[in-house]
Amino acid sequence: MTERTPYRIKGETGDWEVVMGLEIHAQVASNAKLFSGASTTFGAAPNCNVSLVDAAMPGMLPVINRFCVEQAIRTGLGLKAQINTYSRFDRKNYFYPDLPQGYQISQFAHPIVGEGEIEVDVEVPGKEDYSFPCRIERLHLEQDAGKSIHDMDPNSTYVDLNRSGVALMEIVSKPDVRSPAEAAAYVKNLRAIVIALGTCDGDMEKGNLRADVNVSVCRPGQYEKFRETGDFSHLGTRCELKNMNSYRFIQQAIEYEARRQIEIIESGGKVDQETRLFDPVKGETRSMRSKEDAHDYRYFPDPDLLPLEVEQAWIEEIRASLPELPDQKRARFEKDYGLSRYDAGVLTSDADKAAFFEEAAKGRDAKLTANWVTQELFGYLNKEGLELSQSPVSAGSLGGLIELISNDTISGKIAKDVFARMIAGEGEAAAIVEKHGLKQVTDTGAIEKVVDEIIAANPDQVAKVKDKPQTLGWFVGQVMKASGGKANPKAVNDILKAKLGI
Ligand code: ADP
Ligand code: MG
Repeated sequence: MTERTPYRIKGETGDWEVVMGLEIHAQVASNAKLFSGASTTFGAAPNCNVSLVDAAMPGMLPVINRFCVEQAIRTGLGLKAQINTYSRFDRKNYFYPDLPQGYQISQFAHPIVGEGEIEVDVEVPGKEDYSFPCRIERLHLEQDAGKSIHDMDPNSTYVDLNRSGVALMEIVSKPDVRSPAEAAAYVKNLRAIVIALGTCDGDMEKGNLRADVNVSVCRPGQYEKFRETGDFSHLGTRCELKNMNSYRFIQQAIEYEARRQIEIIESGGKVDQETRLFDPVKGETRSMRSKEDAHDYRYFPDPDLLPLEVEQAWIEEIRASLPELPDQKRARFEKDYGLSRYDAGVLTSDADKAAFFEEAAKGRDAKLTANWVTQELFGYLNKEGLELSQSPVSAGSLGGLIELISNDTISGKIAKDVFARMIAGEGEAAAIVEKHGLKQVTDTGAIEKVVDEIIAANPDQVAKVKDKPQTLGWFVGQVMKASGGKANPKAVNDILKAKLGI
């Protein structure tokens, strides 16, 4: 595994490092909203999924959705976090046209989930990947706001409240993320966890999972002081990059933002704590608003909701129902199938890939199967822009091909030809091999005959190979050619060596 090396940016006055903490908003995969029975269906006509509670009509009372609470606990357990049997809902007061209540119901002082940790795998192009532990500070439940639509009419803004009141899990990390690649990897890993748990569908295009990235810069050595003391004054002032929903933009935005802050500090200025937006077209971040401090929101306990008290027995019941998580699956693939960490990572990056591999590998050579799945099959799907679910070759069929390689019916080279025919719809591997007569020739008599002919016809090469045994490859090539690629390469080598006396 690659070491975790510090990510440094060269400034005019020396090196800088980046420090990041992320806040992820993950929409709970629930059919109903957090405090009302209104539907959460995506793409409904504007203002159709709105109950009187979501529209904040006077006198309406919120009622907590037990299913959403369960998903928050489930996610907390997946993050190896403390589950708080006592938590409480607070009102976070601010004005937005798409927030009719004038406040958001959130959890401030007493979140449902406390500290946890995830192991983040970071892919480094051209190198082996590495991992780092990222501490989780908390996870709390809160309501989403509605949506203001500014581009339908030049003179007015429309409001769609379908999203108003939808349950979100806000997952806050500690500032343990240290490079643009690590930030993207953190979101990727967290997304894989919630998808595996089934608590959020992870659809970033629809905004169902989005990240606010808090970025600050400091001199080398400062971060270590912060970790020793827990004193944030060792770190720089942070800016929050809001609502990022693409891995590529996350990295671009952080790189831009870190350099912007470095330039400000180096020219004698001060970074303002603010919320910024990334403009992917310009590749820049720009100020959206100055960042409020918690006390600006005038948080207070929501008088319409009782504190949330959950029983330990329920937590244990949920714990017992947790599925295998991506990092556990990866470790199992390494151990049980003898796969490399890299291959295990690729195959467990989503549940469909893992299931496909496990079906294809059942009772077969697992390493060979992993190679075929990750290289030949994924290579083909990537090239064609297809999802695994659209694969023309099923897991069972690919397994059939692998069996033919393992039992020496066909060589690896011929197998590629057979695979191409399977993709073209010619059917199962065994039938293709039969139909086209592609079986490997292991009959030594037949190979010997070809070898004898080639030796007899090439006395110069024979003299040469006795001098230089490394030219044996020439004979192997001739025999393979004469056999249409079907001769068993090992048998060919053995017979040639015996006959040539080398
Ligand atoms: P807020 O609710 O105002 O956004 P939080 O205390 O919830 O503030 O912290 C938000 C995020 O900012 C957390 O993920 C935290 O780790 C991160 N963070 C705090 N200080 C810094 C800093 N100096 N540099 C980078 N990230 C930071
Ligand atoms: Mg926050």
